[in-house]
Amino acid sequence: MSRYTDANCKLCRREGQKLFLKGERCYSSKCAIERRNYAPGQHGQARKKQSDYGNQLREKQKAKRFYGMQETQFRNLFDKAAKRPGKTGENLLILLETRLDNVVFRLGFASSRKEARQLVTHGHFTVNGKKADIPSMEVKAGDVIKVKEKSQSSPKFKEVKEMSITVPSWMSVDVEKLEGKVVTLPRREDIDTPIAEHLIVELYSK
Ligand code: SF4
Repeated sequence: MSRYTDANCKLCRREGQKLFLKGERCYSSKCAIERRNYAPGQHGQARKKQSDYGNQLREKQKAKRFYGMQETQFRNLFDKAAKRPGKTGENLLILLETRLDNVVFRLGFASSRKEARQLVTHGHFTVNGKKADIPSMEVKAGDVIKVKEKSQSSPKFKEVKEMSITVPSWMSVDVEKLEGKVVTLPRREDIDTPIAEHLIVELYSK
């Protein structure tokens, strides 16, 4: 199935919360969740009691949409998480957070994960000095993510240099150099994504 590109706001309304898919608009009063916080469609305002399965499915859809992933990619990542030691749900969240596109977004170099994915694909970043243009690349502790020298003069990154950026505790950023570092891998408590990962584990364990 192709990536869902239209009406991103409908996805947020379907999940009943902000998924931050449209950059700056998400932080403004134009956000559709601020205006119409109910599901789209004719019966969107009707209250529905969901089954356990429905809750699990919604949580998986929410996580997938939050990180802008397709079903197969998401399922593969879950399988990878399940093979690692520790709790599968936590492993999954850590794998989602350490995707290169998410790291670029968290470093403040893009206004949304979607934009981060585009910037990565267009080859604007290096990881440890080497070209990195695959959004799903898993970033490790100690990795240095930098905007390529050639890209630093573009209007987009000049704008980033003017910004005051706050990053999660597991990262550091040098805005002047347009360079960030994954200081350590995130722990569950470092990840603020509003996802109940145990529901996804329950769904895929059926
Ligand atoms: Fe979601 Fe952003 Fe649209 Fe708000 S503006 S509904 S957070 S995509």
